[in-house]
Amino acid sequence: MVVEQIACHCCDLVMELPEPDAGSRAHCPRCGHLVMYSTKNGYQKAAVFAVCGLWFLLLSLPFPFLAFQSQGREQQVSLIQSGADLIHLGFPELALLLFLFILFIPALLLGTYLVVLLPLGRGFVGRWMYPVVRFLFSLHPWGMAEVFLIGVLVSLVKIAGMADLVIGLSFWAYVLFSIFLILTITSVHQQQLWMELDRTSGICRIPVKASAGSALAQGLQSCHHCGLLHSVHDHHCRRCQGRLHPRVRSGLQKTWAYLLTACVLYLPANLYPIMHTRLFGSDDPSTILGGVVALWQHGSYPIAIVVFVASIVIPVAKMMAIIWLLLGVHLGYPHQPEVRTRMYRLTEFIGRWSMIDVFVVAVLVALVQLGGLISIQPGIATLAFAGVVVLTMLSAMNFDPRLIWDSLSQQEQHAVNCGQESLN
Ligand SMILES: [Zn+2]
Ligand SMILES: [Zn+2]
Repeated sequence: MVVEQIACHCCDLVMELPEPDAGSRAHCPRCGHLVMYSTKNGYQKAAVFAVCGLWFLLLSLPFPFLAFQSQGREQQVSLIQSGADLIHLGFPELALLLFLFILFIPALLLGTYLVVLLPLGRGFVGRWMYPVVRFLFSLHPWGMAEVFLIGVLVSLVKIAGMADLVIGLSFWAYVLFSIFLILTITSVHQQQLWMELDRTSGICRIPVKASAGSALAQGLQSCHHCGLLHSVHDHHCRRCQGRLHPRVRSGLQKTWAYLLTACVLYLPANLYPIMHTRLFGSDDPSTILGGVVALWQHGSYPIAIVVFVASIVIPVAKMMAIIWLLLGVHLGYPHQPEVRTRMYRLTEFIGRWSMIDVFVVAVLVALVQLGGLISIQPGIATLAFAGVVVLTMLSAMNFDPRLIWDSLSQQEQHAVNCGQESLN
């Protein structure tokens, strides 16, 4: 039974979604994009996971997160205290980055899930829940709890040789919080949640007439948030009330603007030191690449590879991939649209992992402050590099992958029109 017609977010192909059965997955037949999956009792599970996640996040705040001991002196930090220490040391920007990406946004995500899932579980759906769900899914890329954890592990390896490290109770609570956050997010698929809201509220959407092929070629557009099909003349989505645009508005210009700014910032991010280690009064600045080389020389090969891939390979590959995608669209390159769409999805997925090095610096600066003995200060490259990561993420978000398929759709349309003319 066909429940809803949507257009693929990646290639604009109109397709019919069947009734979501537990364990079923629906892929776009043209570009392979996963358009929906459904899990058994997904809403109930996600609500329980979200409550557990928030509980462990609360537990991760008051207790020691890490302790650092050297020559009889000890520095102990909790998550809250590390933010306060960063502000006190004169690095409010780093404190703000930490607070936003590892505490505030993940907590807001879990809280918003509960605001929607608890009433939904009791069979209540209010009109206000639709914009809330829209907001919820726009938050997803910015919650970086698991990226932070990898950053903490890298930090531990970096200073393991300098002193004794003690992992505190809050660290384990934060690990459990990250696991529950991932479980919450993966329990409910966006498309399934939109359909469930309609089903519970009893709203029956009258489908727009659409046939197979590109939505835009048929004078249709799909909502960027909930996927509902509309005429290209509509301005607001009937379901989630989001603004409608056949394609991301000024998407190419915005993608170029964010990308070029990221490219400019990439130079100071790599040329200037990302942190300074002050050992017995002598200053040892290190760049991103210098940090990788030091890890390698100390024999921490896996961690050196992780940092090299996250901080050097991913940002460069991402910028080159976006340039390639943009040029393909500008030049109307019609070949390998599936490959380019896959590359786009990968670029969008991996972007946030480059934040590892920024978190490493934040953790080390908060943790290693033993006065004249040893202390770590952030370098000028830290903020530049955080800027590169955020700007490349915004750049990828503003690129509309359906543009890759548009030149193809025009050719298809042309072929159909030619066929009809020859029949006449
Ligand atoms: Zn598709
Ligand atoms: Zn919508």
